[in-house]
Amino acid sequence: MSSSFPTVSELAAEARRVYGEEFGGDAPRAAACAPGRVNLIGEHTDYNQGLVLPMALPLVTVVVGSQTSGKDVTVVTAAKDADEPRRVTFSLPSDGSTLAPGLPGWANYVKGVIQHHRALPVPGFRAVITSSVPLGGGLSSSASLEVAVYTFLQQLMQDDGDKVSTAVACQQAEHTHAGVPCGIMDQFVSVLGREGHALLIDCRSLEATPVPLRDQDLVILITNSNVRHSLAGSEYPTRRRQCEEAASILGKDSLRDATMEDLEEARDRLDDVTYRRARHVIEEIERTARAAKALEGGAYEEFGRLMVESHNSLRDLYEVSCRELDELVSAAMEVEGVFGSRMTGGGFGGCTVTLLQTSATERTILHVQERFGGTPTFYVTTPSDGARALSLL
Ligand code: ADP
Ligand code: MG
Repeated sequence: MSSSFPTVSELAAEARRVYGEEFGGDAPRAAACAPGRVNLIGEHTDYNQGLVLPMALPLVTVVVGSQTSGKDVTVVTAAKDADEPRRVTFSLPSDGSTLAPGLPGWANYVKGVIQHHRALPVPGFRAVITSSVPLGGGLSSSASLEVAVYTFLQQLMQDDGDKVSTAVACQQAEHTHAGVPCGIMDQFVSVLGREGHALLIDCRSLEATPVPLRDQDLVILITNSNVRHSLAGSEYPTRRRQCEEAASILGKDSLRDATMEDLEEARDRLDDVTYRRARHVIEEIERTARAAKALEGGAYEEFGRLMVESHNSLRDLYEVSCRELDELVSAAMEVEGVFGSRMTGGGFGGCTVTLLQTSATERTILHVQERFGGTPTFYVTTPSDGARALSLL
């Protein structure tokens, strides 16, 4: 029923096995892992310099490998649902020129990280990737891949180890090489996540406050709708543009600096769509601050109410939800012991996140499964650590 997922050591063992197969019995000399994430609240606020409240997941991407003497890089992914070749070889530019993105698409995340790594020049290497983060499911397999590769490369050539700079470099990789103009949240929490804590991240100052989240009576349930609508790719940059436009009409650097009073005053200078987009962002930032306080004080009912408000705002004002996500949220909210539920991630498919009493876990999963038309996957999760080197002993 609820999906069990491999542990970090199982993923590392699998990666070593594949490495041996692919590279003639050789053994990898370095390894690292980085988690996916779920955002509890604060959606579409990161690229508006706002607040977000994600946690790192026990679902991770693992990279094992070794430095080589030449300038070639060979990477193999064990990801079963990548419908591209799983093995890629490319040469590192020797003259400092850019490593151009190309095919297979998944390798661009690796190339981007090499390009933006702070300990240049990156040497030749070979590596294998394994992961328990679902690809394209809204739990940020992309950031976990970038951060895992970055952290792996830190084992080959040390940089100053600054964690925020690591997150920024990985975000740059996604911008320039995957063509996704994402905010900083995913990479940030993948690097800096902390076991037993959610992270309240201020995406303007890049400061993070850990918020304890380790109550035995509380469960964070992720439900993957296993649908992904094609709108997801094109609508994200559109939302970003609309927010920038709203900020500029309001005379602000970003919507982080705007209040609802500012927005109401400017209402006749904004078209209806732009108004609604900006209203979601301004209110969501405020909601996230309140939610962090509620969590801190153990006020789960209040936290749950804010989650549902967030979902409704994403559905009605920001228009990034979809039928499947709305259905999953409604079904979860019908169960006694559920505090709150909302879509999480960019939208148009992917996952919902639900906060509930531990004792309600089984009946929630059963009820959602029964009510939902599709075939969801469930993950019962706890807040986990960010990226780290792994020992291969
Ligand atoms: P999400 O980050 O929500 O999972 P994205 O569309 O941002 O969704 O990123 C998914 C893409 O990241 C995949 O299509 C693939 O190109 C790449 N990716 C992520 N994890 C892996 C992996 N383990 N192996 C190969 N590619 C991966
Ligand atoms: Mg992603």
